[in-house]
Amino acid sequence: MSGSRAAWRFIALRVMFTSLLSIASAHGQMQAQPALAPAPPAQPQNGQWLSRTVDGIMGTRIFVEIWTEDVPAGDAAIDAVMDEMRHIDDTMSTYKPSSEVSRVNALAATQPVRISRELFRLLTTALEYSRITEGAFDITYASVGYMYDFRARKRPTEQQITAALPAVNYRHLLLDRKTSSVRFSQPGVRIDLGGIAKGYAVDQGIEILKARGYSHALVNAGGDSRVIGDRRGRPWVVGIRHPDHPDQIITRIPLVDTAFSTSGDYERYFDEDGVRYHHIIDPHTGHSASKVRSATVIAPTATRTDGLSKTAFVLGPDEAMRIYNRLDDVDAVLVAPDGRILYSKGLTPGDAAPAAVAPATGAPADTPPTVH
Ligand code: ADP
Ligand code: MG
Repeated sequence: MSGSRAAWRFIALRVMFTSLLSIASAHGQMQAQPALAPAPPAQPQNGQWLSRTVDGIMGTRIFVEIWTEDVPAGDAAIDAVMDEMRHIDDTMSTYKPSSEVSRVNALAATQPVRISRELFRLLTTALEYSRITEGAFDITYASVGYMYDFRARKRPTEQQITAALPAVNYRHLLLDRKTSSVRFSQPGVRIDLGGIAKGYAVDQGIEILKARGYSHALVNAGGDSRVIGDRRGRPWVVGIRHPDHPDQIITRIPLVDTAFSTSGDYERYFDEDGVRYHHIIDPHTGHSASKVRSATVIAPTATRTDGLSKTAFVLGPDEAMRIYNRLDDVDAVLVAPDGRILYSKGLTPGDAAPAAVAPATGAPADTPPTVH
């Protein structure tokens, strides 16, 4: 982990450089990105990029891209990643009555429910993120959250929220490792892994690709992504979109061998009487959490970035930055309601040694692989 941390941190030193250019560009001061990089080192050309997009797994779009020298083997590897995503969807979706998570929601208030080791591990991880984020990330948000339907513009009444809110608390989730079972400490508790399962699925996809020997790859599921290696001689570039203008990129981040998740209040929402109701719920109030417009978190695994990207909405930019900055392997870019862009410690100019920035090996104006 420390190796990949070092690699990505090196890239991070260049972030301010490229993002300043992007911001300048976004303000119309610059027509085009200047050519920053020397020509990429010569690479043997007996391979190619192979990619596939599949809609409708885990309620989102999955995108996988790999560098491969053997197209049939590459196709088989992408098949295996998609199969794994479908398996996770079948296990963890609350939209599927036959999923393990639906069974837990139906039974765990009345009896311990035996669950797979896989689900047990992910629930354990979810609780760890609840503790790290001081309760901002909480999969029992669903005890209230299930009453929202953003597509149908449906939301609970204040009375319904007040009645359901006591069931929102990650401490109501009791895990027994010996029997691999889960129980809720009181009625009314529901869990939903929508805030962590996509990140986990991305990590599982990456593990499959690594096991098959791929050293340049991207796996993306909705707002959650992870890359193996670089884009052959240059970094992957993630573009962070403007919260109100999908076509505007407010900053670009070059990354290598890392994971990143973006949460935004523009993903699933409806507006009513000037209020935005969206899919990230404050566990303390049962209302949409609106203290930032978007949060991008960068860390070694997508489970981690997914689990941490909701925090800033609930705690606000300053409290969230305090938590992100405390974690050695985590960085973040937040867009505040007033449009300010905040960077975590590892991404601030003070952290960039001039000598490391000077060679201008910054990311070329690549098309961002994912734009949120
Ligand atoms: P995406 O679904 O595109 O990955 P996010 O990573 O921002 O988007 O996750 C949003 C989802 O997280 C919501 O749709 C919901 O399922 C879940 N969620 C909402 N609020 C919370 C919360 N406070 N803690 C944990 N999960 C949450
Ligand atoms: Mg996510």
